[in-house]
Amino acid sequence: MPLFDLQCERCSAEFEELVLGDRPPVCPECGSAQVRRLFSPISPPRRIGLSPAAKRESDSRRSEREAARKERRSARPKSKDG
Ligand SMILES: [Zn+2]
Repeated sequence: MPLFDLQCERCSAEFEELVLGDRPPVCPECGSAQVRRLFSPISPPRRIGLSPAAKRESDSRRSEREAARKERRSARPKSKDG
């Protein structure tokens, strides 16, 4: 069931309402149609960082890229130093 957490922008009442698309939700307290959807009624979960394996991979990738960059730099002939 498409049950959404909504909050009235007029009286800031929080309520749940079935939103079926063509019927806009209305505040049960004051009847206002100016309601907004609450995407995260509870505090958002802690962000989970990269897994150790993924982190290692991205680390090695970065060092690889850095090495490639250094190589290209040193391979480049210096125009001023002749
Ligand atoms: Zn209201």
